[in-house]
Amino acid sequence: MTNPNDPSLTSWIETGADSDFPVQNLPFGIFKTQSSSPRIGVAIGDQVLDLAIMNKLGFFDKIKIDNSVFTNQYLNDFIALGKQTTSGVRDRISQLLQSDNPELRDNKEAQAKVLHYQSNVQMLMPVKVGDYTDFYSSIDHATNVGTMFRDPDNALLPNWKHLPVGYHGRASSITISGTSFHRPKGQTKPNEAEPPVYGPCRLLDFELETAFIIGKETQLGDSISTANADEHIFGMVLFNDWSARDIQTWEYVPLGPFLAKNFASTISPWVVTLEALEPFRTAGYKQEPKVLPYLEYSGDKNIDISLDVLIQPENTEETLVSHSNYKFMYWTMEQQLAHHTVNGCNMNIGDMLASGTISGPRPDSFGSMLEITWRGTKPVKMKDGSERKFINDNDTVIMRGYCRKDGVRIGFGECKAKVLPAK
Ligand code: MN
Repeated sequence: MTNPNDPSLTSWIETGADSDFPVQNLPFGIFKTQSSSPRIGVAIGDQVLDLAIMNKLGFFDKIKIDNSVFTNQYLNDFIALGKQTTSGVRDRISQLLQSDNPELRDNKEAQAKVLHYQSNVQMLMPVKVGDYTDFYSSIDHATNVGTMFRDPDNALLPNWKHLPVGYHGRASSITISGTSFHRPKGQTKPNEAEPPVYGPCRLLDFELETAFIIGKETQLGDSISTANADEHIFGMVLFNDWSARDIQTWEYVPLGPFLAKNFASTISPWVVTLEALEPFRTAGYKQEPKVLPYLEYSGDKNIDISLDVLIQPENTEETLVSHSNYKFMYWTMEQQLAHHTVNGCNMNIGDMLASGTISGPRPDSFGSMLEITWRGTKPVKMKDGSERKFINDNDTVIMRGYCRKDGVRIGFGECKAKVLPAK
């Protein structure tokens, strides 16, 4: 069988050079149409393949999966079948979509039942997220924040290079791209000498992140090694960890983020599998001092994923405010997962572990407005002439991500949400 990542593969479904979803990608998501219930789909070009109908029509007969797995509101049960099976489904779909395979290509009747234009479907949350963790693993981001708020000479706290710092977030407010939310309200302390006040957040920010989704559970007491971590990672999505900086500054001592982070997080709808990302692995950051043995790993474990952030003020065009890359991460996903479970903390399918803000070394690659405008001291210009220090009401923030190599572009689709005025 052909390798589904082979750059020379083409599909009988038109996928332009700038499409996020060539035949080498085949990400999984949950969608519904006006007449159908939620179900699993795979993105190909500007279309979605309906896996529930594909299974019903017998295209997956050799794999034998109960159709209730596909007519499901979430991917969790599908992911629970295990990588061998889910990879097998991806391989089979790849086969069926390849240019020289006539099975579906020449069956117009089946095509009419299983293919929808993405513009005609509604994407839903891909997984039921049980637990959500957010890390703080970009060295440029941590250095910027430490420089701004503490001491430029000791920007990183003493633990930072010894363990991937993180906190437990809240799963209930993770929403699918396209979901608007109201500007959060809360307690802030705008004036050092005055008591705190209550009101709408004034310093609303985005955090450019990715998140990985747990694909294999562990029991309480189990740990996952860096060598086995990839078996436990199903795939990745783009993740905007919306942050209320003024609430954060006042509340975070001594236990870390709370209400400044849990009012909304936005994810992209398509889960790009680790298998599809494999060709884009790249060397990790050189870690000095040497990490403890349980955090050591071998091979290229970073991934070259270009990441863009754009702000679209209401009724005007988008302005690019950051161009970063996942390869700038200091700690890898494998290390994050090994660290998270080293104490015996159990993982469940669908758990989401986010990278932390991904900043690159240059100001045009910073992953938050806090850094881009350096606490609001350097506003950025929008194409419509207005300026932003942070995010205004009715602004839409859009994140896009893609890998590109050997003429293949593996994209994530959009992670997009609009900020409504405070309720
Ligand atoms: Mn974050």
